Amino acid sequence: MCAVVGVFGVENAAQLAYYALFAMQHRGQESTGISSADGERIHLIKKRGLVTDVFHKGRLKLLEGSCAIGHNRYSTAGKDSVLDAQPVFAKYKLGEISVAHNGNLTNKYEVRDELIEKGAIFQTGMDTENIVHLIAKSSKDKLSDRIKDMLTKIEGAYCLVIQSRTKMFVVRDRYGIRPLSLGKLKNGAYIVASETCAFDLVEAEFIRDVKPGEMLTFREGKEPKSEMIFEPDPHPCAFEYIYFARPDSIIDGKTVYNMRLKMGEQLAKETPAKIDLVLPVPDSGVAAAKGYADGMGVPFEMGIVRNHYVGRTFIEPTQEIRDLKVKLKLSPIKDMIKGKSVAIVDDSLVRGTTSLQIVRMLKEAGASEVHMRIAAPEIKFPCRYGIDTASKKELISAGKTVEEVRAYIGADSLGFLSVEGLKDSLGNDSQYSLVSFDGQYFAGGNEDSPGCSNYA
Ligand code: AMP
Repeated sequence: MCAVVGVFGVENAAQLAYYALFAMQHRGQESTGISSADGERIHLIKKRGLVTDVFHKGRLKLLEGSCAIGHNRYSTAGKDSVLDAQPVFAKYKLGEISVAHNGNLTNKYEVRDELIEKGAIFQTGMDTENIVHLIAKSSKDKLSDRIKDMLTKIEGAYCLVIQSRTKMFVVRDRYGIRPLSLGKLKNGAYIVASETCAFDLVEAEFIRDVKPGEMLTFREGKEPKSEMIFEPDPHPCAFEYIYFARPDSIIDGKTVYNMRLKMGEQLAKETPAKIDLVLPVPDSGVAAAKGYADGMGVPFEMGIVRNHYVGRTFIEPTQEIRDLKVKLKLSPIKDMIKGKSVAIVDDSLVRGTTSLQIVRMLKEAGASEVHMRIAAPEIKFPCRYGIDTASKKELISAGKTVEEVRAYIGADSLGFLSVEGLKDSLGNDSQYSLVSFDGQYFAGGNEDSPGCSNYA
């Protein structure tokens, strides 16, 4: 998960990076950081907490320079040390470097063990540190060549923003698994960000997506240089459309909200139900529920109210707190629901916790029937490319049939979108990364290899 941003060629670069990170807060709430380069040195501030907690005017002023890179970190399972915040900064032979990474490297242990064998010391559990070490140890004279050298040694999913004292480098892996877009600010400076919603806030114009396999180099007074480092083999992550990205973001030319509507419409075709009302699980299921209601020709109502002062359910490390948080977060409008047969639509079902609680809540509110609809296929495999979908044993659909899951969550019926239906909704113009649904680990790793829970 996580968000990255890079701003190049404008005096208040750190402030713009701050706004961009704020717009992308949904991609990570554990910690945040910005480093800036003023031509002579790199300044860095990173801390646990939300963007608005960590940065205030005084702090931002310390981040001088016309280039800034930043990161929001998403973390689970208690690995939330401030040491794991990014960007990762280091001094090395060629000077100073700072790295922000979104994704998950599938060969991190092999690379780390080899580096440790040769005497390297690590401060964190993050795979991003491998990247810094590989750059520092390369024998090439120029940083750009050292980065290319490093890229031949890492595998998996990555969007990288790397900063020296005078330059900025941006790389997207050959599969383009995580999104990364290039924009231009009003004064002609450049911005790259995980999601285009960051551009809207700083009034940057979207130029294009960074291509899978591409490296961009930003130098003062010059246009960005584009080099294709790898033959592209695009596999954009379907889960970005299903759940993770903000609905107003545009990924690879597709507005996320529209994709969710289509998934909902397709879900109505595949798993209709006899219902009076369609309700979304707020906020994650809203667009898909609207699509489902349109497809069914049944009224759509915001029948569950969300308390916005509670964070996303997955952020809490223990199961007990997570259950409690669902209840703290969501509350039904009883008048609307009493005596009705309702469909309740969510974007995905992972452990089944949310669905179980919501079905119970709707029944307690007097619903005569509750039909759970999930606008994604059954999640049977853990993602190894940067979405934290827990281990296989925690994935309820990995071990249970649809009927068994239905019985567990207590719904009158349960329906998932088919993999084919998902592909149709997204458009059959791309080979999407569907690893959570089909277990095709095309970029390395497997269901037993370490995921992103312990890593960036
Ligand atoms: P669960 O309660 O474990 O079945 O998780 C499903 C809920 O978590 C849905 O409401 C999703 O919107 C949300 N969700 C799905 N994937 C993730 C993820 N990787 N991180 C956080 N929340 C997620």
